Amino acid sequence: MSSKNKNNLDKIVERDLKVLWHPCTQMKDHEDIPLIPIKSGKGVWLKDYNGKKYIDAISSWWVNLFGHCNPYINKKIKIQLKNLEHVLLAGFTHMPAINLSEKLIKLTPKEITKCFFTDNGSSSIDAAMKMSFHYWKNKGFSKKKKFIALTNSYHGETLGSLSISNIDLYKKTYKGILKNTIMVKSPDCFYKDQRDSDKKHTIKIFDEMFKVIKKNHNEVCAVIIEPLVQCAGYMRMYHEIYLTMLKQVCTKYNIHLIVDEIAVGFGRTGTMFAFEQSKITPDIICLSKGITGGYMTLSSILTTEEIYSAFYDEYIKLNAFLHSHSYTANPIACTAACASLDLFKKLDVLKNNLKLSNYIQNRISHLADHPNIAEIRQKGMITAIEMVKDKKKRIPYNWKERRGIRAYLYGLKNNVLIRPLGNVIYFMPPYIITLKEIDKVVDVITGAVNEATK
Ligand SMILES: *Cc1c(COP(=O)(O)O)cnc(C)c1O
Repeated sequence: MSSKNKNNLDKIVERDLKVLWHPCTQMKDHEDIPLIPIKSGKGVWLKDYNGKKYIDAISSWWVNLFGHCNPYINKKIKIQLKNLEHVLLAGFTHMPAINLSEKLIKLTPKEITKCFFTDNGSSSIDAAMKMSFHYWKNKGFSKKKKFIALTNSYHGETLGSLSISNIDLYKKTYKGILKNTIMVKSPDCFYKDQRDSDKKHTIKIFDEMFKVIKKNHNEVCAVIIEPLVQCAGYMRMYHEIYLTMLKQVCTKYNIHLIVDEIAVGFGRTGTMFAFEQSKITPDIICLSKGITGGYMTLSSILTTEEIYSAFYDEYIKLNAFLHSHSYTANPIACTAACASLDLFKKLDVLKNNLKLSNYIQNRISHLADHPNIAEIRQKGMITAIEMVKDKKKRIPYNWKERRGIRAYLYGLKNNVLIRPLGNVIYFMPPYIITLKEIDKVVDVITGAVNEATK
């Protein structure tokens, strides 16, 4: 690195730390851990101010689907910018919002007929909770005020979405200002009896959910769940039969099923939406993250005619769903989302992802023999490697050792951006990654595991 470059870089970091407060960060960490200003991005690659490049192996927090500065999405946004940057969506409308709603509805089961927009994942969860509660109220079920969620779940960090989340790291501090939620044991297969299949384990665990619903259904609006993978919950996975059984019981007991597809939607788990693998129709679907291909903040709530029609009434009855955000369905964001959906067709993404995920599986399988790897688990384009202190008993490392950070720093040194969740290293790349780039990531992850388990 030339000294001029270094000075330049130091100056950027200094200016940042003077004014910026970063998300999910103990700011004091930046006394030792470098903050990395990124100058540009192209495809899976990010480039910093020294010209050093990094493969974005985590899709910039799971949002990027088709690479940075994707030429097709860029082109569509430029065209939209010439026409309209934004207009309110109350009383007015625009083609990007209409096109996107039509496309999303076409991708979901036929019972899903309406599309509501919010700004980000957490706000879509909050709005979905309000929508479910308000539906039951309009229908005369005013006792329904509670929600059921799973242990180890993550649904966002606004007060509503944090209330139904269950990861202590994000939640514990704020318990005093959160709404009470009924937590039911997650079907997470990591700690199953190793003699059981994933399916058998999942069916066993479902019993608790059944009992809780049976006992509390009069007071419960909805069950909220992340289909198949609890992503922020250390990429823990479960068998699809759980959702199939859950939907049946929810229907029987008059409870909505809200699926949080914010992380797993848009092809991540092999199907367009993860819930498809359970062959169910949810009552409410929350989408965000990959929805715009990683370009803009946008989220969507898809729901049924049954729910929509419970709000459709004379104004003076005050039954309307009055939830709103200033930037609802921003035209540029909707344009990016439509372009991203075009690319699914143009690039035959689901089929191509199957090839990529098989390749990743083969390339990474050698790590299963590592003395400190308890499990390698994969669903589609999500691969997670769980590091443990004791492989046989699956005893985790003490979190205070912060082994994930070592893996992170090793990755950066070797041109790959990984950002472990505790002791879990995961690989969730943009779909345009090449086999050669996968090779590179797998080699670096292997090195990172060795470094972190030393
Ligand atoms: C990221 C995430 C959220 C929250 O979305 P934000 O846009 O970060 O507010 C909610 N649910 C799941 C499953 C997520 O992964």
